[in-house]
Formats: sequence, C-alpha cells, structure tokens
Amino acid sequence: MPKKKRLKLYPRTKKWLRRNYPLPWPCRIRLTDEGTIKGLLGQFLHDGERGLIRICKQSPMPIQAETLIEEYAHALRHALPVDVDYDGEPHDAIFWAIYGELINKWRSNC
Ligand SMILES: [Zn+2]
Repeated sequence: MPKKKRLKLYPRTKKWLRRNYPLPWPCRIRLTDEGTIKGLLGQFLHDGERGLIRICKQSPMPIQAETLIEEYAHALRHALPVDVDYDGEPHDAIFWAIYGELINKWRSNC
C-alpha cells in the first residue's frame, strides 16, 4: 500500500488550525507578496463579515508556520465578544493566552 505523504509544515499547520480551532466566520488564509503587506511577516484583517490572514510568501516555511499561528491567534481573539484595542495594543493578555495555547499544542501535536 502506498504510504500517505505528509503535508509540508505550512499547509499542515493551516489544516491543523482550521480543524482544531474553527472560526465563527469565513476566513481566507493566503500567501502574499511582501510588497503587499509592506514588509510584515503576516497580517490579520476583518471587514465585519469575514477575515483575511496574509502570510509573507518570501519568508522561510518555518517562519510562515509560526507567523500563521500568531495571525490565527489574532483571528480567534477578534472572534471574542471583548473588544480589541486596535488603535493601541492588540497584543493584550487574552491574545497571549490564546497564542500560548496554540503554540504549545502545535509544538506537541502538529
Ligand atoms: Zn501580532
């Protein structure tokens, strides 16, 4: 029987996040040219109806995977009924609790 090929780290991380931490609205996840996101490693946007996560296409894959976890944590944080301070510090204590949960589970399960 042919051995099932394991997904590479970035698509595997994407699939793992979507399966284990579903969002309450549609969210696209795209690899984006660094020029479009102005040199950022990643970005989370939400227009009131749906989300968009952009990850820098030029980053090495391990960086893309870790950046995806951070941006996905922003998406999960955004989904809570407690406002995010986008004009100030969006990395609040709730964000870090979510990020810590994701990164720990990802390291041992993905
Ligand atoms: Zn961030």
